[in-house]
Formats: sequence, C-alpha cells, structure tokens
Amino acid sequence: MSEPKNIVDLVHGLESKDPISAAAGESKVLTPENLVGVPMDDTKDKIVAQLLANVASTNSWYPVKLPSRGSLYSNFDSDSVEVKPITYAIEKQIRHSIKAGNSNVVDLMLESCSRPLPVDVLTVPDKLFLMYKIREFSYGSTYPIVSVCKKCGAENSLNLELSGIKVKYLEDTYEEFCTMELPDSKVTCVIKPLRSADITELAESKDANEGLLEHIVSINDIKDRMIISKFIEKTTIRDVSHVREKLFSQSYGLDTKVNYFCDDCTHKNHMELSFSEHFFSAS
Ligand SMILES: [Zn+2]
Repeated sequence: MSEPKNIVDLVHGLESKDPISAAAGESKVLTPENLVGVPMDDTKDKIVAQLLANVASTNSWYPVKLPSRGSLYSNFDSDSVEVKPITYAIEKQIRHSIKAGNSNVVDLMLESCSRPLPVDVLTVPDKLFLMYKIREFSYGSTYPIVSVCKKCGAENSLNLELSGIKVKYLEDTYEEFCTMELPDSKVTCVIKPLRSADITELAESKDANEGLLEHIVSINDIKDRMIISKFIEKTTIRDVSHVREKLFSQSYGLDTKVNYFCDDCTHKNHMELSFSEHFFSAS
C-alpha cells in the first residue's frame, strides 16, 4: 500500500490489481453493502482502517497535566496522565451499564479513557478534571447547559467552553493533611483528604459519621480511634459539619464557578457546574 485512499479509491482499487482485491478474490467487487457476511479478516481490517483514516486520532492518548501535579500519588513521578476520547464502543458499554443500574458510570468511563493511575486512588479534583478533559476530547469543547435564573425563573441556555475553564494547580507548600480548629470545642483536628474510592464509600455508608472518622487523623495530636470516635459522637453538630465541609472542599482543581447574566431580567447569577451521566453523551 503506497498512498492514502478514500472510500471511492478503495472500491475502485478492489476492481483493479490492488493487493486488497488479490486477497479478497479478483472476481468479486466488494462494496460496503456486499461486505456484510464476509468473515472479519485482514482485508476487512484494512478497509476499516481506511474508513477511519480521518478519525485515527480517537484512538490516540493525549497527555494532560493534573491539577495535583501528580504529587499526591506514591510511586508516580510525573505531573501528567493520558486521556483518550470515548469511542462508540465505550459509550455503548456505558449505556449498558446505566440500564443495568450501575451507578458508577463515571468510574467505568475513567477506567477506559485514562491511564495509568487507577480511578480509586485519584484525588477528587484530579478525577473531576479528567472527566472534563475526556468530555472535551470526545465531543468538543462546547458544552451546552440550561440554567434557571435564581431571580425570575427563566431558563437560560448557556454554551460553556470546557477548554476555557481555569485550573488551579496544587501549590508547592500544600500539605496533604489539612489542619483546622473546630469552632465549638476549639480542638485542633487533622484530616486527610478524600480520594475517589472514599466518595463512593461515604455515599454508601449508612452511618454518616462512620466514613468521616476514617479521615480524621488526629484531634489535639491524639490518634486513638476510640477517643476520636467518642469525641465526634459527643461534640456539637457545628464541629462535625466543619470537618465534613473541609473534607469536601479543595484548594486546587478546576474552577467550576460560572457567572452569567439572565437573558430575561439581566440578574447576575452565580452557579456551580455539576454533571450527570449525560455529561458523557453528545447532547
Ligand atoms: Zn432572570
């Protein structure tokens, strides 16, 4: 095979002395219609490859710099990972999963379209960032959303440019464990931030404090689990809310705040971007 061919060349080529026609049999003219039923062999692979000549990039991996700069992963010495667009086959798999009641659609997609870090160990800001990048590479940068004006209730259609969302990278001085003073007890509490797998566990946990406890490293330097557990049970709800809030807030990652003026009443709306499983479909 010398020069690239389009589909018209291909079909013509099959009628001539092209190596493809030699493999498929000289007498039969192969058009896309009568290819149905022909076994998947080398010939078909070649034809498929030709048909995909202009979309070859969908199978390429693209490097992206993580908001954490890769510094929160053990045995990982890069600031970047790779992502690739969702193919039809992966999308089909995701739709299947939704129908089967799998709520972990995002993880499934990340497993297929990002490497080499396992989904479970990703920090929450990195995970969110990778989801946006995969969406961008798969369906383009424009992401249409509808937002209801908080003042007049009018629906506003917005086109968000995913490539334009700012990323705040982790600072050099960042300490993975977060230290805070609790508002009522005034004790010093140290927590370790959530990873992707923790979010699932927290969501599934029946006892709201159970998952929380695992992320408290110490209280006034005391690390005894029993003491920490009893303290959380007995302290005020304001203290517990404070821990919870800090656990979910992150100092780095995508800036998902969006401001827009309402088309109807010109009220300035502030919204936080959120997503559903539909985030990963074209519409
Ligand atoms: Zn309005």
